[in-house]
Amino acid sequence: MATATKTKKAAAKKTGAKRKVAKKAAPKKVVRNRPLLDADGLAAEEARLRKTYKNITVGSLRNRGEREGYGMKRTVEITCAKKDCDNKRIVATSDLHQVKFCESCTAEDRLARKTRARRAAKPK
Ligand SMILES: [Zn+2]
Repeated sequence: MATATKTKKAAAKKTGAKRKVAKKAAPKKVVRNRPLLDADGLAAEEARLRKTYKNITVGSLRNRGEREGYGMKRTVEITCAKKDCDNKRIVATSDLHQVKFCESCTAEDRLARKTRARRAAKPK
């Protein structure tokens, strides 16, 4: 019995092995790209995003690939959330939840938070 299985396996190897390896070498590609939207789709998606992120510039949502440096991400323009600062910044829509300020205000904010943390940690 054992020998029969062995020979079966050996036969399977001879016939099917090469094909199986080739299949493994080319795994199915999972496409996670956002679908390209037409003008109406973009407007609707932007309206949806603006419900959560009020600082999005109207009409600034772009499809993936339309702004350089963002790969396959949709991008949008936001206005800095800092008081008295109305700098604009381009962000990927996937980063909207974590970007509030323009680049210089982000640096300032980071420094301020570090200073606060340092002072809080300092023993009196
Ligand atoms: Zn700013």
